[in-house]
Amino acid sequence: MAEKPKPKPAAAKHSVFEVAQHQLYRGAEVIQLDPSVRTILSQPKNELIVNFPVRMDNGEYRLFKGYRIQHNNLMGPYKGGIRYHHEVSLDEVKALASWMTWKCALLEIPFGGAKGGIKFDPRDHSQAELERITRRFTHALGSNIGPDYDIPAPDMGTNSQTMVWMMDTYMNSTLQSNKNAMRGVVTGKSVTSGGSLGREKATGQGLVFAIENWAEETGFNLDGATYSLQGFGNVGSFAARILSRHGAVLVSVQDHTGAIRNSEGIHPKRLVNYVAKNGGVAGYPGAEAVDRDAFFGTPVDIFIPAALQMQITAETAPLMSTKLVVEGANGPTDLEGERILLEKGVTFLPDILANAGGVTVSYFEWLQNRRAEQWSEDDVDARLRAMMQRAYNTMRRIRIEKSTDNRTACYAHALNRIQAVYHERGIFP
Ligand code: NAD
Repeated sequence: MAEKPKPKPAAAKHSVFEVAQHQLYRGAEVIQLDPSVRTILSQPKNELIVNFPVRMDNGEYRLFKGYRIQHNNLMGPYKGGIRYHHEVSLDEVKALASWMTWKCALLEIPFGGAKGGIKFDPRDHSQAELERITRRFTHALGSNIGPDYDIPAPDMGTNSQTMVWMMDTYMNSTLQSNKNAMRGVVTGKSVTSGGSLGREKATGQGLVFAIENWAEETGFNLDGATYSLQGFGNVGSFAARILSRHGAVLVSVQDHTGAIRNSEGIHPKRLVNYVAKNGGVAGYPGAEAVDRDAFFGTPVDIFIPAALQMQITAETAPLMSTKLVVEGANGPTDLEGERILLEKGVTFLPDILANAGGVTVSYFEWLQNRRAEQWSEDDVDARLRAMMQRAYNTMRRIRIEKSTDNRTACYAHALNRIQAVYHERGIFP
């Protein structure tokens, strides 16, 4: 009989992975998950750490530390992004990998969960250095990735170009006769190199579909609704552009360069152009600069964290005044921050639902690669909408049945599906 894990009290300071484990235990409790299954799921299957040298533009060599954590592949190949950030750590990547397992199970996508990353700041490097770092990392991963085994995708600090370099490196390390079958080794590629239409905006698009589902459930009118965004990269900027079609008003934005606010509204497209030129939101002429507390303290209908993990905490949650938190980022809320907001009556659309648009369209990309097809953007959007709606409806049903919160309801569904397979297949040998 497996030992029952002991979650720490919510008030204690937790690491990201401890927060992820706590969320797992909460979901497990609601469905009375078999303790053996819980024990298996509480740690990743494989933890790969590689240290690899790369030549810099000035001729010197630098050693980089890369991670690939494969959490679970019971439901299908390992799947998850690659993050380039100076704070990447084993603990963080383990948490991110486990969230991928639950996300794919919740969305009923035939993938497991993984995540990877390199601990460095991509902004400090030229394109030529980024290419060499990416190719050398892909080479170091070797046969630990593959289109039927483990399929990376973009995450913070990486993009379609990163994925195309990974694909090309992987393809060139395989047999000539087999090259084209290897295209699906990564997703989030550019459309030119085998990516899917609608993939670049997919996480933002899925996030907006989830908000639409919530608005429909609660009778909330998005036209004129106010929202704040933390992070104005891939997820945040696409979510903002799509939300503006609903008449929602962006009043405050924070990124790594600072925070800005305008109660009359910030124009998402103009801000995208500004950020492309200036590298961040700081100094945007259509808004005033504010500090972190003022950013979190701005009253809004919807708050969208779309940057780093552990941002809504015991310090920031008391400042917040919002109806809905939509987790574009993975793990943006720590246990104490969540408790404070739930007590205030705030609703969460949890990360494993709200940002699942990315992996869902990654799955579509992988299917298109296997079938040598190219789906239209309308087709991709319609399929994504249907899958997000199904997951939302499932979450809603379980939340009501179990009298629980949205996050726990999502975990309950994901864990139930995984448990059913473990019970049928058994544990080898
Ligand atoms: P990105 O690199 O495109 O953008 C990251 C944004 O976060 C930038 O605007 C950056 O300035 C901001 N940021 C960085 N550090 C910050 C800080 N200390 N304070 C405030 N802002 C900060 O990354 P992305 O792809 O948009 O990913 C954002 C989040 O969404 C991550 O948590 C990622 O795991 C999650 N996510 C991404 C995808 C995807 O498809 N890209 C899918 C699912 C989840």
